[in-house]
Amino acid sequence: MDGSRTPAYEKLEMFIGGQWCQGGEGKSEDVLNPATEQVLGKLPHASKGDLDRALEAAAKGFEAWRKTSAYERGKIIRKAADLFRQRADAIATILTLEQGKVLGEAKIEVAATADIIEWYAEEGKRAYGRIVPGRLPGMRQMVVREPIGVVAAFTPWNFPGVTPARKIAGALGAGCAIIIKASEETPGTCIAMARCFQDAGVPPGVVNLVFGVPNDVSTYLLASPIVRKISFTGSIPVGKHLAKLAAEGMKRATMELGGHSPVIVFDDADPVKTAEIAAGGKYRNAGQVCISPSRFFVQEKVYDKFAARFIEVAKGLKVGNGLDADTKMGPLANMRRINAMEAVVADAQANGATIETGGKRIGNQGYFFQPTVVTEVDEKSKLMRNEPFGPVAPIIRFKTFDEVVKRANGLEYGLAAYAFTKSAATATAVADALESGMVGVNHLMVSTPETPFGGVKESGYGQEGGIEGLDAYLISKFVTQVGV
Ligand code: NAD
Repeated sequence: MDGSRTPAYEKLEMFIGGQWCQGGEGKSEDVLNPATEQVLGKLPHASKGDLDRALEAAAKGFEAWRKTSAYERGKIIRKAADLFRQRADAIATILTLEQGKVLGEAKIEVAATADIIEWYAEEGKRAYGRIVPGRLPGMRQMVVREPIGVVAAFTPWNFPGVTPARKIAGALGAGCAIIIKASEETPGTCIAMARCFQDAGVPPGVVNLVFGVPNDVSTYLLASPIVRKISFTGSIPVGKHLAKLAAEGMKRATMELGGHSPVIVFDDADPVKTAEIAAGGKYRNAGQVCISPSRFFVQEKVYDKFAARFIEVAKGLKVGNGLDADTKMGPLANMRRINAMEAVVADAQANGATIETGGKRIGNQGYFFQPTVVTEVDEKSKLMRNEPFGPVAPIIRFKTFDEVVKRANGLEYGLAAYAFTKSAATATAVADALESGMVGVNHLMVSTPETPFGGVKESGYGQEGGIEGLDAYLISKFVTQVGV
């Protein structure tokens, strides 16, 4: 595809109570293409009146949806997944236009999004309770699983398909209604998703999609007693803020926050093959991935070969518009990421690091940044302490197992961690030792619809995906009865 021509983008509107609408007060913001900085469209902002309508609609939607059998709900959710698949090419283009990632990655994300929706269509049928033996003759003790109620969800801009799907389909699979505020920077993909749920026959009010000033919307929604659960994906500071607001109303919360994932490459791993896998993972979505491999600890014997190949791969990546066929890495999603990358590189240099390749913004139109590799990095530098969320990779030497585990576990993050080794004993030992919600040994694929996704420590709590993903939207009610 020729990236100089702009293909069709999504019509920007909100979805409240089964109706598409603009904002009640006429407020809006521009949505930009990060590859060109051109305006893709004007996104409406919800007024307080719009949010009240969304709350009321969600409360009504919940009453209808919870009474719909899990079997019927499953059929509707599955149809939404089918529609999302049928519209995949158009949605992938929308995703690249608003987020920047290369079209091939957008297509993979769209396929994964449909898989997630389909997973919850099935898993909703398995919200099993249990029978506990009673203490008296004829006594029945039942643990019944019920949907928690209306969910408020907030999603960021890095995975505009996968992240909203986890929340919308998870909530709907369990029988909940949802008000989702997707990212204002990448709204089109979630709008396209809401259209699929509407066309699949989800009753009015079960899925509501709003936009606005993030803190205004979350503060307003979380203050309402109608909302019983919050699910947030984003940064640790915002997660802590929202967790406090949730606590005010004793609302259940799922917090999927940041990570700074260590990758431990032991001496017995193949350094060249491992470097190729590691660099491929690092520069996916230009490094703007919460489970991105981002601190590369390499044992002494294989360090030189690993670093040389990693640098070679980084140098060979073609950066450009994600719609151009030969592009291997797209732009960063917004100007904040460029500023953050420049600051992180400058700080590493000030702390004595060597910039092996990259380190600079490319051009001055579009948010392009060079794939960057940094060595001899001081562990006190920002790059080693804070999630970079961009295409900057530090490669660090280590000597022993105990030393590297201590360094890998040394931050407040605990989302994903990776290790490469040919030894089964080392694989088991390192998987046991890492303080992390997910551990990948000899590969990086720790996110699938059927497995739990989430962190420990300040990376958050609660999980999405797997049976845990449905559990997040269910309560356990204890019912006990004896015969009269
Ligand atoms: P940010 O922390 O302000 O925003 C992150 C996301 O949270 C955005 O989508 C934003 O709209 C939303 N948000 C912010 N304040 C909110 C509030 N009060 N209520 C509800 N939603 C709110 O910063 P940013 O510049 O967008 O991203 C910066 C950092 O966020 C990154 O460096 C990265 O660490 C983190 N991040 C993490 C993820 C993830 O997948 N865990 C995704 C995006 C960003």
